[in-house]
This record gives sequence, C-alpha cells and structure tokens, in this order.
Amino acid sequence: MATQVACTIDLAEEGKQLGRLALPKLTNTGGWASTFIPIASVANGDGPNVLVLAGNHGDEYEGQVAALRLIQELEPEQVAGRVTVIPVLSPAASKANTRMWPSGINFNRSFPGVWDGRPDEQLADYLTRFLFPPADVVIDMHSGGRSAWFMPCSHMHVVDDAEQRRAMLAGMQAWNSDYHFLYVDINGTGLLCVEAEQQGKVVITTELGGGGRVPAAVHELAWSGLNNVLRHLGVLEGEVVTRASMGLPDAVIVDGRDPANYVVAPEDGIFEALLEPPTGVKAGDPVARLWFPDTPARPPEVLRAPLDGILAVIRSIPATEAGDGVFTTGQVIEAAELA
Ligand SMILES: [Zn+2]
Repeated sequence: MATQVACTIDLAEEGKQLGRLALPKLTNTGGWASTFIPIASVANGDGPNVLVLAGNHGDEYEGQVAALRLIQELEPEQVAGRVTVIPVLSPAASKANTRMWPSGINFNRSFPGVWDGRPDEQLADYLTRFLFPPADVVIDMHSGGRSAWFMPCSHMHVVDDAEQRRAMLAGMQAWNSDYHFLYVDINGTGLLCVEAEQQGKVVITTELGGGGRVPAAVHELAWSGLNNVLRHLGVLEGEVVTRASMGLPDAVIVDGRDPANYVVAPEDGIFEALLEPPTGVKAGDPVARLWFPDTPARPPEVLRAPLDGILAVIRSIPATEAGDGVFTTGQVIEAAELA
C-alpha cells in the first residue's frame, strides 16, 4: 500500500522500540526535509493491541505528558500484547502552543486522509490504513486546549453497535474521572475517533481540563487514568482500580448529545464566566456575561443555560468573537441507559 509516511520501527516486532514517523516537510529552508513524529512500541506475546495517541491538537498537553511518561516507564515484561504510543501527533502545533497546525489545518478534521494529499492528510491516511487496522483499542487524549476549561473527564460517542458501545463505556469508566461526557460532532467532520469507530475499534477519549494551564491534579488524572485503562484492557499488568475500590461514588455521566447544549457568543465582546464547571444549572440560569469595551454604557449581555443540566465546559479566553464557543452543558444520564 502506498504511503508518504516512513516508520523507523517494526510494528510487528516484540520488545520495546522507539523510533519515528517521517513525512515530507515542505519549507523554504529545509531542502528535501522531513517532519519527525516520535513513535514507540512495547510488545510482549499475545494480548490486545492498543494505540495511545496525544497531541492531536497541539495546545492540549495533558495527554502528551502522560504519553511521554508512558514511553519512559513501560517495559515489555509489564505488557501482554502491544502498546503503540504516539505522544505528540502534531509536533509543530505543540511547539507553537496552538490547536491547529501552522498550515491552519485542524488535524482532527483530516480523517480518513489522503495518501498523497496535504501533509496532515498523509499522516491521517497512515493512521487510517496502517495503525488503526491492527489495533483493538484507540486512545486519543484531548482537553479544552487554550480556549476552554473542560471538566476533566473521559468521554465518548454513543456508537450504534451495542457491543462496541458497551466496550467503549467500560473503557471510559475505567479512567475513573469524577465525570464523563457523551458528545456529538457539532464542529465539522473528519475526526480521528470517528474513523477508528467506523473501523469497529474501541475508542477511548478524554477532555482533561484545559484553559492554558495544567493543574498537577489533572496531570495525575491523565497518568492514573491512562494506566488504569491499560490494565482494564488487559494489556498492562496490575490490578484494575475502580471508583468503588477507592471508596468513591459512581462517576456522573453527562449527556451532551442535544446540540442545544453548545452555546456560542451572539456577538464580539469580553467574556466573563459566572460559574465554574462542573456545576448544576437550570435553563435560564446566568452562566456568563459578555461585555462591550467600545460601548461602556451598554449593559453586559447575560448568557444563560440553554437547558437544565450540568455546566461541563466554559470558555477560558476572555476576548471573544461572535460564534465562538462560550460554554457547554449536558444532562445527567445513567450508565445503564447506554448499555
Ligand atoms: Zn482536542
């Protein structure tokens, strides 16, 4: 199969390997240059094949740190099966502290990709045709990035296939976050997770905070959750921890499938949050205000909860343009309703 992406390690080999993907880099100064994307594989005998991904969006560092640490610490004798790790899918965006690639592309809208298309499409295609097919499970770690604080959680699409959905639900719950979120795609198509889901993979994703800073507790949740999910899947040795075994109540599952939950700014302004996620709201409750610096005499616009539920996400950048996402709510749902 044709691809523009070269991989320096053998993804069928046993043991621990660290290498890189290379794809053509088109610059003014690099000559016949390559973009390097580190990749690691830790494999030992039979067991699940798990693909761990982070840095899909460059400014979401929680998963990048956990995945880099996993490469350092994971050894073959701890593994049954294979763990393949790409800790930073979008290296230039990560270095630039941006969601998008420097080309202006959102890599999470580049799937399934094109083997000889734009660089992002070439990389997406490599994942789609070479990395997803052998995987049983795809973990893709996200957060709110610079633009939003998302209550730290694992989350999922509610896929149609019941067996796949139950496995994704169990994987999501194994992260042991206090909350989980059920999301829908209201911002375009071409998502990495959708391509993996359509290939029948168990897809486990996160929204680990964000807002331009990573609290230590969120780094800890990224690390502990990732490790517990790997144990839950049976690819990493050790006892699976549950919220019950930690003496914690069941996690709250917040259902964001009603598109009305996704609130955007009606006009330009300076955003002021009045509440912090996660918190309960009633429809009509004030959640935030929009101020108008060019017309100080004008009262701020109050932005209200669209529905009863839980405030799950809030904007973290005060400067706001019309149409920018400002907050997201969802409704509590029982896990049994998803089984
Ligand atoms: Zn993201």
